[in-house]
Amino acid sequence: MQLFSHAARPFHLGPYPSERLGRAVVAPPLAGIDGDGTVDQDHEERSLDLSRAIGDFMCALDAVRQGDRNQSPAEVPTDPQERSNHIKAAGYFLDSSLVGVCRLCPEHMLPRRIEHPRLRTTSYAQSEEKLRLRFNPNAVIRQMQRSLALTEQGIGGHTHAVVFLVEFPRDPTSNEPGVEWIVGLQHWRAALRSAETATVLANYIRILGYDACSHSATTTDVNLNRLAVSAGLALVSDDGAVTSPFIGRQFGLAVVTTNLELAPDAPLRLQGMRDRLRAKGIGWWTGSASPKNARNRMDFAKRAFKDSRYPVERLKRVDKPTTLIDEDRIPRSPKSSEFFLRAAFGDLGKAAQDASKDGYSVSKAPLAAALRLALNVYSLLQRGEPAPVRAENYGDPVRNADTIKATMHFLGADLAGISRAPRWVWYSHRQDGTEMPVAHPLAVSVMIDQGYETMEGASGDDWISSAQSMRTYMRAGLVCGVLGQHLRNLGFGATAHSAADSDVIQTPLVLLAGLGEVSRIGDIILNPFLGPRQKTGILTTNFPMMADKPIDFGLQKFCGSCNKCARECPSGAISSGPKVMFNGYEIWKADVEKCTRYRMTNMAGSMCGRCMKTCPWNLAGLVREAPFRWAAMNLPWAAKWIARLDDMLNRGRINPIKKWWWDVANDGTGRVVKARTTNMRQLNKHIDVKYETRRSPPIRRR
Ligand code: SF4
Ligand code: SF4
Repeated sequence: MQLFSHAARPFHLGPYPSERLGRAVVAPPLAGIDGDGTVDQDHEERSLDLSRAIGDFMCALDAVRQGDRNQSPAEVPTDPQERSNHIKAAGYFLDSSLVGVCRLCPEHMLPRRIEHPRLRTTSYAQSEEKLRLRFNPNAVIRQMQRSLALTEQGIGGHTHAVVFLVEFPRDPTSNEPGVEWIVGLQHWRAALRSAETATVLANYIRILGYDACSHSATTTDVNLNRLAVSAGLALVSDDGAVTSPFIGRQFGLAVVTTNLELAPDAPLRLQGMRDRLRAKGIGWWTGSASPKNARNRMDFAKRAFKDSRYPVERLKRVDKPTTLIDEDRIPRSPKSSEFFLRAAFGDLGKAAQDASKDGYSVSKAPLAAALRLALNVYSLLQRGEPAPVRAENYGDPVRNADTIKATMHFLGADLAGISRAPRWVWYSHRQDGTEMPVAHPLAVSVMIDQGYETMEGASGDDWISSAQSMRTYMRAGLVCGVLGQHLRNLGFGATAHSAADSDVIQTPLVLLAGLGEVSRIGDIILNPFLGPRQKTGILTTNFPMMADKPIDFGLQKFCGSCNKCARECPSGAISSGPKVMFNGYEIWKADVEKCTRYRMTNMAGSMCGRCMKTCPWNLAGLVREAPFRWAAMNLPWAAKWIARLDDMLNRGRINPIKKWWWDVANDGTGRVVKARTTNMRQLNKHIDVKYETRRSPPIRRR
């Protein structure tokens, strides 16, 4: 929890107070820098530990490091500083710890490209079964082939580099429960997460009409360490190691090189006493200067990896979910019942059908389109056959559950929970009418935060909305995908289920796994720490694990007395009435058709998440919010007043300081142009939403 709000801090400055560091006028010498920032690939090649699965995903990202750019440059600002601010903010949106920009010079180039050993040999050929599923991988495979061809040509003409630094969390200690797969893999984790960011943003820059290539710790044309120094992220120590003044040496790097003109950052100078006082003075120690500070610098410093960053162990666990589920009455649904597919079939009208072509409703926002590529790349690896020989020593379900959750949290899940995977959560038939199997008995659900700061700057249904969703879907796809691959390497059955390709209905699994309660928003499970501001991913498996219990934090009463989401929903999809029985669940039944149609045809933004933005549970994580959270959980009779207080405090309004994205859109022909209009909504506090039952007409008697 943070003591100070940073609502007045522009997002592009990042979580560390880098703007307070002393900067050099003259570029530092690069020749004495030790190493190039790449990882030991021999280790990954030899081993069957988690680095092998991480390496597979790095290889897949490396395989789309380049690509054809949009032929017409986008209508984006021409000021290099504004461009740098934007690209840096996008890097922070994707969870970089530090981002810097510099000019590219010959000293940054490696004498010879370093390449992932499996880059040219890995086959992403798909099984027939995969081709029958919703996700069509052929476009991604074509892009991989084109990327390899462009990689041969090199990065001539690139003038600038953007450097992404991802810090390590605390080193797992060997006597800690659950960490057996992650000890010693800090470099691999940071390499993977930074590669993901560089791959997405290189693709984004290409969609904007400029050349760009990503360079990771497994495939690179440039020296990552030298670029970190040139871009002002790190200094060179006496032994030649690169060191960040805030983070030290515990980080991984990735880079985007491009011909997009950007304003470079000045390199750091040796930090004198005055510099140190400014950067690491009282603001650093109290936390008033920046979101990351001396009090919270190291992720998981005081938390066990298996438990997540949030105090989940303090939640009240119950035997049954707080939502009544009549399991015998829940039918298995075909995939064609899913509303985005129904839109594609034309069930929601022509406008929604047109918007679903090639995923236009999502990808009309260029950053969302770039994120979707990474999600689709991960989809290529989300299923497969287990190794023929099963690893031994995995007979303890409690230890296995700890290991899975610790690994999920280490890789990037904000929360992970385990449940059974009953028959009724599995789709019954594919779109082509073929039957789908009930493949595994257990499921791991992961939850990814959409990010408070970006949500603060947004209306919830403007031009960042689909990118917010895609970022979380992508990250869930990554953590579930890597774990699935690792379990298969160990000889267990495992399938990751993502927004691109899923065999299961995710909402009930998340509920059973104790990651939240059903909310008024309907399909959204609300978590006590992240509110509704999150998305989920699933991994199903036969790896033996102890399931978690559902939780009860009083939300049924709270949502029963609050209807802010119903008031703020632009499509009127959320019920302000009581719960009803629907398909075997007792829920507030949202009108999913209305919601889907609005998200697909929203002309003043891309998709929608306004219900998440305006819910009183969408909190920043400040100490001063703790009484609210406590009262909301423990004083159910006060819910109505807490919801009113939320309105009085104007919570859920747009904070313009946090808006970092450009209001640009694909015009339907592939050109990225300025958006004609943007949703800039204010709170509808003047509306008093009331639920009234409609009376039946009187019966006339003769
Ligand atoms: Fe309403 Fe938007 Fe939420 Fe759908 S996503 S329920 S349209 S606020
Ligand atoms: Fe529940 Fe209110 Fe949040 Fe809606 S806005 S989900 S009613 S707490």
